[in-house]
Amino acid sequence: MTDSFFHEGDLVGVLTAQPLDRLLDYKAPEGGCHLGAFVEVPLGPRKVLGVVWGAGKGDYDRAKIRPVIRVLDVAPMRDEMRVFLTRAAEYTLTPLTAMLRLATRAPGLGEAQSMRKIYRLGDQTPDRMTDAREKVLGVLRDYGGLSFTLSEVAEMAGVGTSVVKGLVKLGAVSEEEAPRDVPYPQLDPDYGGKALSTDQAAGAETLRAALRSDTYGTTLLKGVTGSGKTEVYLEAVAECLRMGRQALVLLPEIALSGEFISRVEARFGMKPAEWHSGVTMTERRRCWRMVGQGDAQLVVGARSALFLPYQNLGLIVVDEEHDTSYKQEDGVLYNARDMAVLRAAINGAQVVLASATPSLESWANVEAGKYQRLELTSRFGAAVMPKMAAIDMRVEDVPGGTWVSPTLRGAIQKRLEKGEQSLIFLNRRGYAPITLCRACGHQIGCDHCDARMVEHRFLKRLMCHQCGETKPLPTNCPSCDAEDRLSAVGPGVERMGEEVTALFPEARIAVLSSDLYGSARAMKAHIEEIAQGGTDIIIGTQLVAKGHNFPLLTLVGVIDADLGLQGSDLRAAERTFQLMRQVAGRAGRAETPGEALLQTYQPEHAVIRSILAGDEESFWAAEASERKAAGVPPYGRMAGIILSSPNVQEVFDLGAEMARMDGPLRQIGAQVFGPAPAPIARVRGRHRVRLLVKAEKSAPLQQALAKWARQFRLPNNLRMAIDIDPQSFY
Ligand code: ADP
Ligand code: ZN
Repeated sequence: MTDSFFHEGDLVGVLTAQPLDRLLDYKAPEGGCHLGAFVEVPLGPRKVLGVVWGAGKGDYDRAKIRPVIRVLDVAPMRDEMRVFLTRAAEYTLTPLTAMLRLATRAPGLGEAQSMRKIYRLGDQTPDRMTDAREKVLGVLRDYGGLSFTLSEVAEMAGVGTSVVKGLVKLGAVSEEEAPRDVPYPQLDPDYGGKALSTDQAAGAETLRAALRSDTYGTTLLKGVTGSGKTEVYLEAVAECLRMGRQALVLLPEIALSGEFISRVEARFGMKPAEWHSGVTMTERRRCWRMVGQGDAQLVVGARSALFLPYQNLGLIVVDEEHDTSYKQEDGVLYNARDMAVLRAAINGAQVVLASATPSLESWANVEAGKYQRLELTSRFGAAVMPKMAAIDMRVEDVPGGTWVSPTLRGAIQKRLEKGEQSLIFLNRRGYAPITLCRACGHQIGCDHCDARMVEHRFLKRLMCHQCGETKPLPTNCPSCDAEDRLSAVGPGVERMGEEVTALFPEARIAVLSSDLYGSARAMKAHIEEIAQGGTDIIIGTQLVAKGHNFPLLTLVGVIDADLGLQGSDLRAAERTFQLMRQVAGRAGRAETPGEALLQTYQPEHAVIRSILAGDEESFWAAEASERKAAGVPPYGRMAGIILSSPNVQEVFDLGAEMARMDGPLRQIGAQVFGPAPAPIARVRGRHRVRLLVKAEKSAPLQQALAKWARQFRLPNNLRMAIDIDPQSFY
């Protein structure tokens, strides 16, 4: 396969990223092309990008077949990447063309490499040396073989660009033209390793041995926050680099911080390649190209970094593997954690899934013997897991319209006196979840969705958390026109800010919620400042549960531990368990032990009890046996089908027809539930109907779903999305 070459005029089948359901035939261009070559082909009046996917079918008038315009100057797609995209497309029931789009999301791939001037040490010595000149030459000497742009050299040396240009004239610095997309600097696997604790060292050695086996394998690396999981998996990265293979570290988008990149730099001496939404377009193109030609050894990125064209991928780390943001919820519905395992299996690579609170899926795969498990049992250094206790809200005296119990208030007071930080956690953005008219009982809803508008007092607007629509807070009720009778019901973080300020007027208080910041950068800067001790009481949403370090924090108060338990989501218990443990894990990171207090109206609930007991194994075992009994993931298979259209009648009609014509599903023993209005029955003006398909673990679900879905003709404007292993049920 690898060597397949098509000579000029041979028919080739080209996959494009256009929404077509087949390969297109073209003639190989002058000079021929390899299988996997990226090419530009004519499509109607346009030129589009494609990949030579195989021989052409030739079932078409040969005279009308047009030639490939040209072969692009990028590394051809490797066989294993074609296999990966094909299998991922089959698994997620996504057209291959859409998978190719995911794999080519870098600008300017079709363009020739542009050039720029770069500078390195020349062979002449200037006859007159100045401080400024010495600085420039010093920097270039320190970085030996590397070359830099004019502004980089000037900046590193702390001099003006004219000094550098002067040295060029004297021949002391050489100036050359080079392609704009340059290789990433070499990482040194032996640069900055830390002395590891005994169980860290044992973990690192297990991972290194797995890598040396040169075969596929997945390891669940479990350990509380602060136990050193990152240190340990960076050792696996180091081994991968020593072997000359490429490594990928996936993080949830929100955890991709400068702090993490600096840590990698401290470990390997140089920065890795980055791939996420904050990266400039030029840098994206560089990353894509360099990964493809093996000139980026390590990529740190968000989930779509999985679709980069690695030449020799040896390791994929999925940090915070339980994080729901690994599931892409629009476009191609894929779970990056699962796709990482697929990709590694095809490549003979290792996967490390790191988490303090693994998903039940991964836990079950360990139980089934598919993954190996590594555990770091204690926190590094002095810190220990916080003490956890419930506050029974049934016996607390909490005045109406407030949410902080006297017990929690007392605990915060103690921290204030000792100069320690407290965190009040409430997973609800905005001021209040409901705006109610006291005169007629009307609740203000979104005009486009069946969702309530949430008051954001900071923005002075109401906002729909479904579609993002906002409108000013009216003074009169939109339903009965009564004046000044609208009132906020229930708490959001902004409202908690008010309550806590009233309780502790002297304290420095910060509310952390994504919509209070103009940019992710502004938010990160503020979080840094808070971590340094600039705040006494932090009030936050789940943002704070994700990977930030607050060394002075010793108390976490959870306002409503019951919140997550109310949904109809099959993972509600698991998510609550993970979130509560992650939040609690924020307390007591440095030398001072922490305490976590959970306000709850149901302290005897099994999930709350196992959170408090810190007994994870029993929680997982109980949760597993419930899901086994119900035949749901990970012990059974599920797919969600969402039909949506502006026309309510059409979605229900098609839903009913699909439920009736379930032959292909019954053949594999699968059941269809629904149609039912989706929990949020209208989003952005589209009515949504949901069907749920359940099958046994071993059933060939995708094939049956594809056969089933093919039976129906979709009216214009009606969309059908099939979600394999749905994570969210809205
Ligand atoms: P996790 O990824 O499990 O949350 P980290 O790897 O981030 O844990 O470690 C937590 C903190 O402890 C980090 O600041 C890290 O640098 C430090 N740390 C962990 N292990 C060691 C070690 N062996 N030597 C020095 N510092 C360590
Ligand atoms: Zn809306």
